[in-house]
Amino acid sequence: MEYALTVLLSALAMTLIVGVRYLVVSGAFAWATRVKYPKLYAGLEPQMRREIGWSLASAAIYGIPAGIVAWGWDSQGWTLIYRNWSEHPLWYVPLSIVLYLIAHDSWFYWTHRLMHRPWWFKKAHAVHHESRPPTAWAAMSFHPWEALTGALIIPILTFIIPIHVGAIGVVLTVMTVMGVTNHMGWELFPRFMVNGKLGKWLITATHHQKHHEAYRGNYGLYFRFWDKICGTDLGLGDWGNGAGTRNST
Ligand SMILES: [Zn+2]
Ligand SMILES: [Zn+2]
Repeated sequence: MEYALTVLLSALAMTLIVGVRYLVVSGAFAWATRVKYPKLYAGLEPQMRREIGWSLASAAIYGIPAGIVAWGWDSQGWTLIYRNWSEHPLWYVPLSIVLYLIAHDSWFYWTHRLMHRPWWFKKAHAVHHESRPPTAWAAMSFHPWEALTGALIIPILTFIIPIHVGAIGVVLTVMTVMGVTNHMGWELFPRFMVNGKLGKWLITATHHQKHHEAYRGNYGLYFRFWDKICGTDLGLGDWGNGAGTRNST
């Protein structure tokens, strides 16, 4: 009974953290968008309200498994998350971050590609594509089935790949910031990077925007690796005048 209560509290706390994190980060980039491109989200208010509603529901779906695992880690010794820097060599810290990003990206690519098959699309992924074009609020705008696929992967990885608790924070920060910026309707990163060597392998808004325009292709999350080797890479999107704004409203 006592266990049930502490698990419940941990799940609730994590839901709150994920929800507030979403509101703060999406809110900050939505505000930046308003400053930089005042008309970009004009007329999208009803869509943004929907995006916020789905995203807050997703926060609970992300928060519950994360809260259960956090409780198990703290009180039962679950997972391979470590607190003491000396447990693994320091060079392993950046490596573990990259391993998590690669594993998450692979999981995302294949589940996302599956969800573009008609039956799965209707059941799980249509909600995310109802945002046309997406805004900074669409980062977690998923149907609960899709949210569940995204919510389980990081908790599962903590049982497979050792990671320092601080490095998990870095992974979650990258996940949150890229989730928001990839949907906000303009490119945050400098053009030399997006159009240069880094942009050939890393996914930013210019790549994911194209997924939202064309549907079939550009399924990746962080890296273009799977899209390239599977022939689903559609290249970078076209922002119209090249200044980072859409040419259509
Ligand atoms: Zn998207
Ligand atoms: Zn999609």
